[in-house]
Amino acid sequence: MCGISAYASGNRASYSRAIGRTLSLLIELQHRGQESVGIGVASVSGDIKVVKKGSLVLSLYEEVLGNSNIKEREVFGCIAHTRYSTSGRYGWELAHPELVSGGRLKLAIAFNGNIANYRDLFALARSLAPEYTPSYVENDTQALAYAVYALAKDEGWDVVEALKRLPEYVIGAYSLVALTSEPRLLVARDPRGIRPLAYSYVDKEVYVASETAALQVLDLDWREVRAGEILSFDGSALEVTDSVVAPDPSPCVFEYVYFSRPDSYFNGVSVYLSRLKMGWYLAREAPAEADVVVPVPDSGRIAAIGYSMASGIPLAEGIIVNKYVGRVFISAPDQRDVLSRIKYGVVRPVVEGKRVVVVDDSIVRGTTMRFLLDKLRRGGATKLYVRIASPPFTCPCYMGIDVASRRELLLWSKTSVEEVGRSLGTDSLAYISLRNLELSVGLPKVCHGCFSCSYPFSELRAFDLEKKISR
Ligand code: AMP
Repeated sequence: MCGISAYASGNRASYSRAIGRTLSLLIELQHRGQESVGIGVASVSGDIKVVKKGSLVLSLYEEVLGNSNIKEREVFGCIAHTRYSTSGRYGWELAHPELVSGGRLKLAIAFNGNIANYRDLFALARSLAPEYTPSYVENDTQALAYAVYALAKDEGWDVVEALKRLPEYVIGAYSLVALTSEPRLLVARDPRGIRPLAYSYVDKEVYVASETAALQVLDLDWREVRAGEILSFDGSALEVTDSVVAPDPSPCVFEYVYFSRPDSYFNGVSVYLSRLKMGWYLAREAPAEADVVVPVPDSGRIAAIGYSMASGIPLAEGIIVNKYVGRVFISAPDQRDVLSRIKYGVVRPVVEGKRVVVVDDSIVRGTTMRFLLDKLRRGGATKLYVRIASPPFTCPCYMGIDVASRRELLLWSKTSVEEVGRSLGTDSLAYISLRNLELSVGLPKVCHGCFSCSYPFSELRAFDLEKKISR
């Protein structure tokens, strides 16, 4: 999971406008990644400069605004990225955009997703354009950038043609933005449309963001990039084409469960409403005799509202989160326990002497829930019924969630939901069924590989990939 944004203008934008617009969009996507941030700036004359930082978006903004090394008088466009690593190490050096040059073009790419077979893409780049491809790559972003570059070379330096062919070689997910030295802005979403991407085109200005919420906040009318669609903007016209692989939309269901902002739409479906329905279905299939519904903030809040509405049990905020502790999930394994312990506080008057339904969006490793239940018990709760608005997370994800090994998953080592419930310290534990999760979203098809081990690629077998990745 990462956030990407872009801005390009046919009106020769000022530096501050181009940077300001691009990073305003990216700030709205900060929840999609906090490890590092990067921006690529293309001048009207086609020069491309990249700045990366191991920080949040706002501090990059302050730095690039005053950076005379990359300051351009007339900017064609920018692409930007905030990283949540799913491939390669954490370091800020692996922040996007990835810049490739050497041939007739310069190309900068940033993407959201994950390419499971990136070594195959790297081999493709080596075979098509050995003169522009290094001897090794560290992660999928680099492999993707070199593969697109090599395909473009193969197509007479036509990047649109390269992007049309790209999905023939990819097992995984990508929503990408790219800048070339022509200059040109390119936008593409893989034919399965696994990760979100949306844009706005007004008065010869193109705005792109991973989620519609970012465009909404800027008061822009938006449209989602269709699965398999490629947009190309050279400053005078926006051209729309399709990739050679037919679209077969199967968007990531976890975007609805957790990743996306509730004020976003993904494939035309309101993320907020889908979460509300998850809670509603959960109450129907896993009722509990309780006095209060308590959400795990922030991720369980909307499903908890749905649960409360459907069950008639009042909702109250019994858990308070310290936002300054940051993301426990992506912290180093030896820090997770400590951080989980200090991240949450319990509101005693809400839970004392009460039978409590605790609602969260998901349990992955179980770290969060184990500490929370212990605190709620010590806060005086008499019963703890845990309800989870997604099915048991049993399988690794190769499409952009950083859980690439089953050993990390709580259910991997347990034989049943009851056993998991006991090990966490619940009085009962229940998950929404996959069927009801799908109904909450309401699309004909979604990728639910993390819950079913069934991925939208016939060639994707979990065990083979685990072996490949851990090599
Ligand atoms: P865990 O503590 O490992 O069971 O993680 C579950 C908690 O982390 C839930 O409260 C989720 O909201 C959140 N979460 C689930 N998946 C992810 C993810 N891929 N990245 C970051 N947070 C996540």
